[in-house]
Amino acid sequence: MNKIFLPILLGLLLNVLPLHSQDIYMPAEYRKALVKNTRSLDGKPGTAYWQNYSDYFIEAEVNSSTKEISGREKIIYHNKSPHDLSKLVIRLYQDFLKPGKSRDWEGDPKYFGEGTAIKKLTINGIDFEADSKDVTRPGTNMVINLSKSTLKAGMDNVIDIEWSFKIPEKFPRMGMYDSTSYMIAYWYPQISVFDDIEGWDMIDYNGVVEFYNDFSNFDVRIKTDRPNMIVWSTGLLQNPEEVFSDNFLMKYRDATAGNSKLEIDCSALNSSNQITRNNGSSVWHYKAESVPDFVFSMSDHYFWQMKRIEAADNNFVLLSTAFRPNALSLKFDVYKIAEEAIKYLATTMPGVPFPYPSMTVFNGEGGMEFPMMVNDGDEDDWESLIYLTSHEISHTYFPFMTGINERKYAWMDEGFAVFLPMEFQIKMDRFGPDNKERDPEKADQREYFVKSFNRFSGTFNDVPMLTPSNLLKSIPYRFNAYGKSEIVFEILKDMLGEDLFKKSLQEFIARWSGKHPMPYDFFFTFNDVSKKDLNWFWTRWFMQSGTADLSISAAVVTSDKMEIKVTNKGGMPVPIAVTLTFEDGSESYHKTTAEVWKDASEYRFTVDVKKKVKSIKLGNGYIPDVNPEDNGL
Ligand SMILES: [Zn+2]
Repeated sequence: MNKIFLPILLGLLLNVLPLHSQDIYMPAEYRKALVKNTRSLDGKPGTAYWQNYSDYFIEAEVNSSTKEISGREKIIYHNKSPHDLSKLVIRLYQDFLKPGKSRDWEGDPKYFGEGTAIKKLTINGIDFEADSKDVTRPGTNMVINLSKSTLKAGMDNVIDIEWSFKIPEKFPRMGMYDSTSYMIAYWYPQISVFDDIEGWDMIDYNGVVEFYNDFSNFDVRIKTDRPNMIVWSTGLLQNPEEVFSDNFLMKYRDATAGNSKLEIDCSALNSSNQITRNNGSSVWHYKAESVPDFVFSMSDHYFWQMKRIEAADNNFVLLSTAFRPNALSLKFDVYKIAEEAIKYLATTMPGVPFPYPSMTVFNGEGGMEFPMMVNDGDEDDWESLIYLTSHEISHTYFPFMTGINERKYAWMDEGFAVFLPMEFQIKMDRFGPDNKERDPEKADQREYFVKSFNRFSGTFNDVPMLTPSNLLKSIPYRFNAYGKSEIVFEILKDMLGEDLFKKSLQEFIARWSGKHPMPYDFFFTFNDVSKKDLNWFWTRWFMQSGTADLSISAAVVTSDKMEIKVTNKGGMPVPIAVTLTFEDGSESYHKTTAEVWKDASEYRFTVDVKKKVKSIKLGNGYIPDVNPEDNGL
């Protein structure tokens, strides 16, 4: 579009926007997207919405002696945008460990590496020297200036790359966990996102930022060099008959058909009892369609469990767990926890069928999600194992199925991954591994999040949620991404009611499945589906400062009626819950949703008080309030 006309069009747009769209602040990038019709005010992808993607064909070889991985990669990059691209941005995540690179936490120099070695780079038949002036690697991106050509709008482009790197020992979320157990992520040269909002995503991988990836197709062949080296991966295995021994193949087929669960301790295998067909190397061929990333893990001595489970009606998932044979998580039946979590997500919250044909829980370190695979550290208590496993699997919906930009809006990803399995976690924790009810006095997961919210809300660490998360670190990052967003989703659910909230959330997922929604697409979809103007709520919670702090006062008007006044001192819209305790010990409970704060900072209501009131208490363990001092009478 001609730049001169853009301001005029923007002016016109302001005149034709429905009223509710004008009372919410929108950054220029989003307004421009509305003009170009790539986004729309009803929250649906615009009629001119586009996104680029790739077909990756990768042949990778893992050398278990040198700990090196090398690959040959052909990418067909589909430029669906209306722009001719004069540069190409390829992410080389392994450059994170190069000396001198910027990192969100300091690394021990003994683990530094050389990053990704690029041995060959060809774009549409033109060779590029990796150390020429047209190729720069400022952070973890390799930027190629296509001075001699462009990637034409609407065209398919062919990129050939040969590369290698040493599998690191200390890299966040991937690496070598023992000499023959690896989680391989952040590994292949990956084309960055070019979108309708900002063009190329240039954010470096510094350790904290996570996903914002195209939805691409992967055809990957992974060559191993040891017997019984099992490869678990994103996607589905294409050649089980080539990699597995005849004996094992029958068990494998039984498990993939859902007939029986495969349980095999690979540390007990020997040459007369092998899983793999070959003694030396095997080539594992996996394929995955329309996924934002591709990872794999491998080991020759893990305990592997696998079966096809039914997540919801006719919604099948090939679920595997691969753990060290002595892992504590196995004692708590991590397989069962993963199975129950998948069923809960598919049937209850968000209540959307599990979108992937497979899921593997691999025992590495920490906790990290990838499409169809999560990396779980070993947990020595039930509560942590439930939280970790269900949280990481929940990420299947955000950011993988619904391709939000987690690099900038981590609350759209971590917030939902905390929120979605919350009731599941509370129930599982309450009943324990032996299904016996446990300590009822113990604070549940939601109360824990409210307490944590109260600690940070309204402090210097509390910045508006729309602050791009790649600009934040430590507490401000974590508070927005995990704690505050979970609370806001709970408040929203309470305000809309569970059914309308779920309907709106499911519609948001349906509209943006396999696409890249921005926060405003989320806001406007909820406005559209709920038929409510929630812009005041989005403005308050996502763009403004303030805290959760209600206070209470009461006036007795007649002998059996009492007027109660609640003042919103903190500014943020939260529900009101008031408990009256009478002298005879009985109680009455009064509740309103956060909606009462739409246009008011004070709320009055009248309650029946036929008996003598002993005390009045404002709030409960699920409602944040940073100042409890003024919550009782
Ligand atoms: Zn997470």
